[in-house]
Amino acid sequence: MKLRLATPGPTEVPQRLLLAGAREIIHHRSTEMEQLIHEISGALPPLFGTSSPVYTIASSGTGAMEAAVAGCFSAGDEVLVVSNGYFGERFQAICTSYGLVVHVVESDWGTSADPERVAAAYREHPEIKGAFVVYSETSTGALNDVEAIGRIFRDTDVVVVVDAISGLLVHPLEMDAWGLDVVLAASHKGFMLPPGLAFVALSDKAWTAVERSTGPNYYWSFKRLRQFYPMSSSSPAVSLLLALHESLKMLDEEGMEAFRRRHAVLGKAAERGLLKLGFSTFVQAPNRRSHVITSALAPEGIDTGQLLKTLSTSYGVTMTGGQAHLKGKLIRVGHVGAADALDLSGIFGALEMALLDLGHTFTPGSGVGEIIRTFHEEGR
Ligand SMILES: *Cc1c(COP(=O)(O)O)cnc(C)c1O
Repeated sequence: MKLRLATPGPTEVPQRLLLAGAREIIHHRSTEMEQLIHEISGALPPLFGTSSPVYTIASSGTGAMEAAVAGCFSAGDEVLVVSNGYFGERFQAICTSYGLVVHVVESDWGTSADPERVAAAYREHPEIKGAFVVYSETSTGALNDVEAIGRIFRDTDVVVVVDAISGLLVHPLEMDAWGLDVVLAASHKGFMLPPGLAFVALSDKAWTAVERSTGPNYYWSFKRLRQFYPMSSSSPAVSLLLALHESLKMLDEEGMEAFRRRHAVLGKAAERGLLKLGFSTFVQAPNRRSHVITSALAPEGIDTGQLLKTLSTSYGVTMTGGQAHLKGKLIRVGHVGAADALDLSGIFGALEMALLDLGHTFTPGSGVGEIIRTFHEEGR
């Protein structure tokens, strides 16, 4: 059975990138690798909207989240965590485990954080040293207004840490112009790569925090990363760097505008398709929907756990459902990275077949029809 990923990370990796990483391992101190790493370090900052270096580390996205907490803060520091989903909760958990004192600005899953409430929380806790926010909250499909949140802390000492792990590339992000201090990303989302690399960019304000931090660290110490930049102090993930080099070429060939437009159309098509099949919208505000995934609540009588199981065992398609209290209720169709109109049509074909297997009634082809219609209208 052919396997297909419709998950918001890991994503389908184009053959061109798989092959780029499949060659013999070259030594990380070789001239060829030095050249490659210089090209990578030149290409990454513009994608973050920064003139600061972007550090590449060998880890999943969570490693970058932890590096930011450990590297910029110390036990006892007060911080704000903006939380409206699973990854906001993860920031909270990491901060707590490093002994930070966490004030949470919580909002319902599926909604976006209200910047006004973040500003109010800051007035209530003026001692905070950092503010953590997730750009595209992949657990729900909601997009947070990190530009507005950045503005609140712009002329303060508060370090704004943004988990842009799924949101980077898919949505605009201007780190310097928006006053964001630590921006995190990872290889297995918009970069279309296998999991294993994460990226961290730090502003001057963030560096001041790094200097102040007393927390112990070594492997992901930002000072150490800076000392060896753009090379690394220990063996990098060579195969993934080879693939990253190629991914940056692919992104450049497509152009960021076209890349974003493709994701916007994928989101629109998926939303229409799901509605047609009897699902209902989960993220209500249309301008606050992430284009990384499309989430929707299942029709009456359909358990998404069962649906996802049928999809994977009978059709080889992996999609994700809801986490925590949304388990069994929510479906999340991932279309980040290299996904196109034909991928989405195929995924929806499988979704319809699985729904028929579960006894759901609808006109077969109607969901796929919405995908085709949307791409026809919007242009592929
Ligand atoms: C994927 C993702 C992460 C990191 O998850 P890992 O499994 O550690 O790579 C963190 N935050 C968001 C918003 C994500 O989408």
